[in-house]
Parts: sequence; structure tokens; C-alpha cells
Amino acid sequence: MSTSRCTTRVVAVCGGVGGAKLALGLYRVLAPDTLTVVGNTGDDFEHLGLHISPDLDTVLYTLSGLADRERGWGRSDESWDFMEALAELGGEDWFRLGDRDLALHVLRTQRLRESTALSAFTAGIARRLGIHARILPMSDDPVRTIVDTSEGLLPFQRYFVQRRCEPTVRRILFDGAATARGQADAVAALRSHATDAIVICPSNPYLSVDPILAVPTIRAALKAASAPIIAVSPIIGGQAVKGPTAKIMAELGVEATSATIAAHYAGLIDGLVIDPSDGAEAATIKLPIELAPTLMRDLDDRKTLARRVLDFAARLASERAPGYRAVHREAR
Ligand code: GDP
Repeated sequence: MSTSRCTTRVVAVCGGVGGAKLALGLYRVLAPDTLTVVGNTGDDFEHLGLHISPDLDTVLYTLSGLADRERGWGRSDESWDFMEALAELGGEDWFRLGDRDLALHVLRTQRLRESTALSAFTAGIARRLGIHARILPMSDDPVRTIVDTSEGLLPFQRYFVQRRCEPTVRRILFDGAATARGQADAVAALRSHATDAIVICPSNPYLSVDPILAVPTIRAALKAASAPIIAVSPIIGGQAVKGPTAKIMAELGVEATSATIAAHYAGLIDGLVIDPSDGAEAATIKLPIELAPTLMRDLDDRKTLARRVLDFAARLASERAPGYRAVHREAR
């Protein structure tokens, strides 16, 4: 495998904004229809009678070029008449829904009520938006992230958006995950011998990636995967680029370092990409490490990091003897 061979097949495990940055880089360096994104639905919730899938939508908007760059979520060129009218009428306005964005939630809610699976709906929208990648929910069954905090149990969006991640996190629960079935195409892609690399994007490990890993058949597929699994650390210089990752790590009693990220994914990943500014940590991590600039400010950064990740995966794949992977992963 090499990045010049555009037929490289890649599965990206991805949360929202941070993860979608690298998913976009991968999308732009790979040939059309070779990228599969397995997205988090633990953040999904029902609000104002609508089914909202924030992380899947972030990936859809990002890969289609519709995402708002400054805000980091939702669509660009957005208007807010609905929210203003809702507030005037005394409706709940803590979760912002733009007018254009609203169309996606209304349509999704209608289709799910008509018994369309979330995966089929998402695939249809990806096609409509001209995206040449598969975007799959981790499961078509409901999984809901619940944050156990100093203020009690909070559904994810209440914690994240309404309470702005202020309550102290004690633990994080994934309601429904234990019995949720991994989405069939996602499980197949992870297990497929045609897959060349699996990338765990630099999403929040606790809030965005763990809900995906909590689905038993997804975790089993990762354990059994023949493709190298590479994670990219969301921590740079002891800090999260954005969001509460470092705060949550402190509250869970772990250091906000890439070494902690390595420990978190131990037994699952074959290599970790960390920023050169954290290079001193490399010696403490018992995993193959790739030092590469991981701060993605613009599209070039995203593409450069994507290429580095794919080259790293190719190197790990070429270094190992047949059968190495399964034995190696079982042992950890
Ligand atoms: P959310 O669901 O929208 O919060 O997004 P994610 O969970 O996908 O991403 C949040 C994580 O992305 C945070 O831990 C950030 O540190 C990380 N992140 C955001 N931008 C970057 C970046 O440019 N580089 C790296 N390495 N991590 C990033």
C-alpha cells in the first residue's frame, strides 16, 4: 500500500468536529468510494420531536463542503429564523438548529418513523450531497451516551451543550450499547481483508470513540481486523485542541497526554500518531509511534496528516509477518 496507489481502502472511526477534520483529509487524498466512515451515534437525541444525529451530520456536512468552518458545527450560509421564532414562543432554545440544518432533521425524523434505518437514510443523504464515501452509523439500534456528573446523570447533549461541559465527570455510560448490533456494513468493512488501514480519528476518546467501541460487534471486528489500526492523538502539548477532552481526562484521574491516549486504546491499536511537540513521550509508549504534525488548521494540514497516517499504516502492514496481527492483538 502507498498513498500514490489511490485504491487504498480505509475505514475511519470518527466522532464529530475533530474527527471529521481528518476524515476530510482522508477523503481528499483517497480515490472516490474507497473511504468508509463509521460514525458515533451516542450523541443522537430526540429534541423538539426531531431525531438529531450531530456527529453523523458533522461528517456529512464536512465531506460535502457544506460545514460552517468558524462555528465548527452545522451548515455555512445558515439563517436562524426558526430559533428566533421558537424562543419568542417560549420553546427550548438551548440547542441551536439553523434553518437549513433543520431540513435534515425533519427529513430524518420522517424517514425513521416510516421505518427507514438510520444507515439507509444517511447513505441516501450522502448520495444527494454528492459524497463519494460511505458514512455509516456504528449501529442502527439506539445507543445513548449518559454522563454521570457532579450534578447527577445527564444525557449527553444536556451535559455538552446545555451545561457546557461544566459539571465534573465521574464516568460515562453508553445506554443500549451492550445489546446494539454493529451496523452490518461497518462490521464487514472493519473485518474485510480488502481494507488496508483503519484510522481512529483524533476525536474525544471518552465521548466520541468509546461509544463506538462499546458496541460489541464493532469492538470484536476491530480486534479481528487484518488491517493495521492507527489512532491519531487528540492531545497536543498536554491540551485538547478544542473541547473538554483534557478537562474530562483530569476529572477521570488521568494525565492529559498522548501516553494516556495510547494506554486508553491499548490492545486495540497497532500504532499511534502524536505531534512532534510530544515527542518526548514516545519513549514511554509501548507501541509503534509516528511523529507528525497533528494540528489541522487548513485543508493542506488535513491532507498531509492523512498521507502520513496512511504511510504509517502501510509501513506497519509491510513489517509484519502473516498471522502477526491476530496473535499480537489477542496477546494484549
Ligand atoms: P465533537 O464530537 O464535535 O466534540 O468532536 P470530536 O470528538 O470528533 O473531536 C474533539 C477532539 O478533537 C478534541 O479532543 C480535540 O482535541 C480534537 N481535535 C480537534 N481539532 C484537532 C486537530 O486539529 N488535531 C488534533 N490532533 N486533534 C484535534
